[in-house]
Amino acid sequence: MTVTNSKWLDAEVRYDSGVYHKHQMVTVRAQGATVWDETGRSYIDCVAGYGVANIGHSHPDVVRAIKDQAEKLIVMPQTLPNDKRAEFLQELVGVLPSGLDRVFLCNSGTEAMEAAKKFAITATGRKKFISMKRGFAGRSLGALAFTWESKYREPFGEAVDNKNVSFVTYGNIEELKAAITDEVAAVIIEPVQGEGGVRPASLEFIQAARQFTQDKGALLILDEIQTGFCRTGKMFATEHFGVTPDGMTLAKAMAGGVPIGAFAMTGAVADRMPAGGHGTTFGGNPLSMAAGVAAIRAMKRENMAEQAREKGAYFMEKLRAIESPKVREVRGMGLMIGMELKEKSAPYITALEHDEGVLALAATPLVIRFLPPITISKEQIDQVVAAVEKVLRTVNPREVPSTEVQESKQTE
Ligand SMILES: *Cc1c(COP(=O)(O)O)cnc(C)c1O
Repeated sequence: MTVTNSKWLDAEVRYDSGVYHKHQMVTVRAQGATVWDETGRSYIDCVAGYGVANIGHSHPDVVRAIKDQAEKLIVMPQTLPNDKRAEFLQELVGVLPSGLDRVFLCNSGTEAMEAAKKFAITATGRKKFISMKRGFAGRSLGALAFTWESKYREPFGEAVDNKNVSFVTYGNIEELKAAITDEVAAVIIEPVQGEGGVRPASLEFIQAARQFTQDKGALLILDEIQTGFCRTGKMFATEHFGVTPDGMTLAKAMAGGVPIGAFAMTGAVADRMPAGGHGTTFGGNPLSMAAGVAAIRAMKRENMAEQAREKGAYFMEKLRAIESPKVREVRGMGLMIGMELKEKSAPYITALEHDEGVLALAATPLVIRFLPPITISKEQIDQVVAAVEKVLRTVNPREVPSTEVQESKQTE
């Protein structure tokens, strides 16, 4: 275990609000799938800013786009049209499933969920929602209503408005069918649950959700905040299911690392929201837009979806080959991978970081989640797998100090 003596760590721990379990290191630089700390130590990054750095940290095209745009124009509200914003909207709609050609721009995944909620209410005139057990939708009071895990909601009591939200077992078609009444505005589903333990939906479940929502006049909204932008081996996970939703929430990897969010929807949904019905100051700012244009073009040019599919299959096969009585299952889609253990994953995640120089994150207490930049090399994957094999073999959870175990629990 590294004992850090750092003025930066001291200052960050001292002045931060305290909601994060801080790791005992200070990052200063990253490139591709490698992160360096202030002592010069390097780490293979399977966190990627919680699934943001899909095209690699500091992709040269994104860096150039940000520099160029910063010199021209950084901020401009959405009532004042802007060339980069128009270019970004064109680029984004060009990669979205056909039919989704209207976009509300914002700055984070949570804001995208908030927008989805409002647009669904105005589009349908209904207020009830269906979300999924183990689902994660963000931390604002509105998005929290769709988040299943009660530890996120309970401290805020009735301020979380989830009287109108019912939770259905992810994958249970009969339960979903029974829950969708003609009072439901929208069903919200992550095509692969991230925070909930890296669980891909079945084809039948997503297709049934499409059918039932259509039959009842409700919207199908896919939360592609984590699965979008090549993570699962397609530009969007919905392409694996052959389904076009009425709306899709987007954020994380969309602008190569810069804060951004969006709710993409059909014209039928967008047209029911009156002008002035929603808005945000920073949404669609030219700096994020320029980064987004560069990021989406890089994804297409470098066939990142294909890379994620191929490297993900390789990574999962290697992880499955690890012989350990501690492993229950390896599952995932593309480069969104979870290794579920039969015991708590935190001590192993801590050991990966401290002893092996590999950054990974938890998803539920039992799962080690890997969300590396898609540019990760096969050699780096081999190193990660060797490190996982080693910590599973050598770590004795009882010997890891409890504060260190705690710190790995912080996910998105
Ligand atoms: C990260 C995430 C969110 C929340 O996004 P923020 O940018 O953290 O607000 C919502 N839904 C899913 C599926 C996510 O992975």
